[in-house]
Amino acid sequence: MIRGKSVLVTGSTSGIGLGIVRAFAAEGANVTLNGFGDPGAVEQQRRGIEETFGVAAAYSAADVTKPDQIAEMISGAENTFGAIDVLVNNAGIQFVAEVEDFPVEKWDAVIATNLSAAFHTCRCAVPGMKRRGWGRIINIASAHGLVASAGKAAYVAAKHGLIGLTKVVAIETADHNITCNAICPGWVMTPLVAGQVETRAHATGKPFDEAKREFVAEKQPMARYTTPEDIGALAVFLAGDAAGTITGASYSIDGGWTAQ
Ligand code: NAD
Repeated sequence: MIRGKSVLVTGSTSGIGLGIVRAFAAEGANVTLNGFGDPGAVEQQRRGIEETFGVAAAYSAADVTKPDQIAEMISGAENTFGAIDVLVNNAGIQFVAEVEDFPVEKWDAVIATNLSAAFHTCRCAVPGMKRRGWGRIINIASAHGLVASAGKAAYVAAKHGLIGLTKVVAIETADHNITCNAICPGWVMTPLVAGQVETRAHATGKPFDEAKREFVAEKQPMARYTTPEDIGALAVFLAGDAAGTITGASYSIDGGWTAQ
């Protein structure tokens, strides 16, 4: 039962995170948004969610590369809603370069955002979940948490690490009615991927739409982009009663990418 639960989704001012927040709000959950963005636009999004779904929506501007800001975000959401019942670690960034050219500060930023942030949110949110005897943690990993691609050393390392963290937290919380699972999407057309398609279009001189088709077909047998709504629906399922014994698992939603 999701109605009335409190859900925090990191990196939810855009793309997949926003899709997940909207999916939980549609089920009647109160939500905490987080992520960067123009304050006016974020406030419009927040209010839009409250008006559309009749739930309470809060916003934290925490930078998830900063452990102290994460701690404040978690305690803020617990104070506002009395709990964080569902924690979704979704904030993520990408940087593409071969390993010998990979800028050290980009490595640090990708690891901090895509991996260490989830350690810190879990570290801060698990005690409350244990006290209340219920919790759901959903980590948005990637097909790149299961297989690699050239040029993505930091991202692939972070996402493989996130799946490892998922398993450890699942084992440690198994006696407390808490589950921890990973979702591993293939391509989803969000700003994070649009940038990579634009780079390809620019490099090849092809129109954006042609580069977009080539991009998905290169990795996925099913040449179709997954949507943020699809990911939201899977997250809602993993938070529901029927998923009560699913823990430590990694769910691919990737058009067959990792079946190969
Ligand atoms: P996006 O760029 O649309 O959204 C990223 C979100 O994270 C934004 O809200 C942004 O403000 C936030 N964010 C970034 N750095 C942050 C920080 N330091 N602190 C707080 N918030 C921060 O990207 P997306 O495609 O929706 O990606 C969401 C997640 O899904 C990421 O973890 C990404 O790795 C993963 N993923 C995406 C795809 C895809 O094809 N788009 C595939 C697999 C996995």
